[in-house]
Amino acid sequence: MNKPTIAFETLGCKLNFAETSAIARSISVARRVPFDGPADVYAINTCTVTANAEKKLREMIRQVKRRRPAAKVIAFGCFAQRDAEAVAAIPGVDLVLGLNEKFRMNQHILPLLRGETGGIIEGDDAEQLGFLPAFSSGDRTRSFLKIQDGCDYPCTYCIIPTARGKGRNPALESIVEQARELARQGVKEIILTGVNIGTFKDEHQGKTRNFFDLIRALDAVEGIERYRISSIEPNLLTDEIIHFTLGESRSFLPHFHIPLQSGSNTVLGMMRRRYRRELHWQRVEQIKALRPDAGVGVDVIVGFPGETDELFRETYAFLKELPFTYLHVFPYSDRPGTPASRTKDKVSGAVKKERSRLLRELSARKHALFVQEQLDGVRPVLFENDIREGRIYGWTDNYIRVSVPYAPELPGSIRRVRLLEQTAYGAAGKIIEG
Ligand code: SF4
Repeated sequence: MNKPTIAFETLGCKLNFAETSAIARSISVARRVPFDGPADVYAINTCTVTANAEKKLREMIRQVKRRRPAAKVIAFGCFAQRDAEAVAAIPGVDLVLGLNEKFRMNQHILPLLRGETGGIIEGDDAEQLGFLPAFSSGDRTRSFLKIQDGCDYPCTYCIIPTARGKGRNPALESIVEQARELARQGVKEIILTGVNIGTFKDEHQGKTRNFFDLIRALDAVEGIERYRISSIEPNLLTDEIIHFTLGESRSFLPHFHIPLQSGSNTVLGMMRRRYRRELHWQRVEQIKALRPDAGVGVDVIVGFPGETDELFRETYAFLKELPFTYLHVFPYSDRPGTPASRTKDKVSGAVKKERSRLLRELSARKHALFVQEQLDGVRPVLFENDIREGRIYGWTDNYIRVSVPYAPELPGSIRRVRLLEQTAYGAAGKIIEG
């Protein structure tokens, strides 16, 4: 008898992608099919980091039900964990799975199709959550490897601790073993992923090991040629991590992504962030002093409640001088239940839009300058299965998107590329043999 079909889609972050991939691999009772085609079951990994992410879920379900009215819809992930009732109330949702229950999806599919189950199945209470491993294994070139989950930080705007629970991680050895498994599968690049990965810590034979110990152990795994640290808090990005990554490490790339959130210490205080702008500045300066060609990405939130024009100008002035290479700009989004959502002095949508535009413009200018500095230089590029109009795409070590003319032997290979010409996405180049 033909197996029913299931299609997966992911909203949100790299961690969600890793978990969707792991859950999809665990499904044996149904056959996986593409999300934009017909399926008996559609399973959507949800996000709750902004109101917009929740809006996207509603729109996605409307489209699915328009396409396949009889299909079943399973919703899981952070929005489903934060407010299962609200997700269950979305027209078209048949089953909502809690944070741990999502990893047991395989046992719910056939009962759902037979109409024997539905509604909300939450499973374990957030507090007692263990750590469930996950890694993405889509195109076998790059893999998001989950090394940590949850968070204990008190950032006043953030809903993630509510959605994902307390900070936790597995033993160092189990992550190293997963990296070995990915090497056996031919993966070339691993992106270390989690919620607050710099808080990684485990006890082993009476010794506490931290994130620095973990990256040194991973660096020794044969077969993985490149590691990227997806994002790390400035107060957790220590000198030894920077010196190791940019110095003696064999495979960690000269690319850091360091959330700032605001360039105003007043706003950082209101956000209850665990650092002040001077520390962030010092970290970026240190990286650029060691490797002027390093890629440095920065997250920033605009329109936090109480962010006056003057405080925003402080952020703009700070970022204008900071030697970053690209920004991720997020308009503040009120998250129910967070301390920030209970404050006054909310910033209007129009002002948030204008502040976002100004920072994205600044980011585009700085990124263009960074690429110009690299032109005519040679960088290692890992080519992915991203082939468009006769060109194949990949990331340089320092996080510039590059394309070269397609050749069948290129997907999944790391080649030296001379960057020839600036483009909207990064740079066009040519392979340098030898
Ligand atoms: S560090 Fe702050 S912003 Fe990041 S996940 Fe934790 S609480 Fe949220």
